[in-house]
Amino acid sequence: MRKIQVITLFPEMFTGVLGSSMMWKAQKEAVVEFSIINLRDFGIGPRQQVDDTPYGGGDGMLLKPEPLFAAVAKAKESDPEAIVILTTPRGQRWKQSLAKEWADDGQGLIFICGRYEGYDERIVSLVDQQVSVGDYVLTGGELPAMTIIDSIVRLIPGVLGGETSAEIESFSDGETLEFPQYTRPAEFQDMKVPKVLLNGHHGEIAKWRAQNSFKADQQ
Ligand code: SAM
Repeated sequence: MRKIQVITLFPEMFTGVLGSSMMWKAQKEAVVEFSIINLRDFGIGPRQQVDDTPYGGGDGMLLKPEPLFAAVAKAKESDPEAIVILTTPRGQRWKQSLAKEWADDGQGLIFICGRYEGYDERIVSLVDQQVSVGDYVLTGGELPAMTIIDSIVRLIPGVLGGETSAEIESFSDGETLEFPQYTRPAEFQDMKVPKVLLNGHHGEIAKWRAQNSFKADQQ
């Protein structure tokens, strides 16, 4: 079973996402085991401090190294070979081909969710991969971690319903976006489903779909 651990100051954020739909199914069918580690449990002193002001001055607080080192050590106790991933705008941009690679790879994953103004740079020495979900700044690494986890887990064999569902999706060949799709009714508020999709001719349907799949850079 694939083990995915997340180190976060906001464990409650994961309850809905990892407890619903495909992520719930993947756990129920023992394809994956999620474990959420509360960074606060590794905080220092009676106030369980996890952050401090930056050397050299500047706004905001940084995650301190000691609690994060302790939390990663704890996560590694149960999965010593796991890959450690830091969510950061400085990281490699996440994309479908990486999700596929990591889904196939089978290794355990430990996510570190940054917060505040970021983290003490020494944390990077614990990390195997730095990943960004895009060129914008979020309040914390939780949404990026959930995004990355969802995109990986749904590609682990047995999680998606139809065996081919993932192969025909957007970006599955690197750049093509999925063709437009329709369901019943054939006409809704004067908008009609393209006739070719109603005629049951598989060759014509495949041709129409190919013609209407867009390259990502054409959007
Ligand atoms: N001061 C940092 C900067 O300018 O790059 C931003 C810190 S952000 C408010 C807090 C944390 O959210 C980051 O340390 C990171 O873990 C996470 N985060 C924010 N945007 C992200 C993105 N685009 N991709 C991945 N993680 C992100």
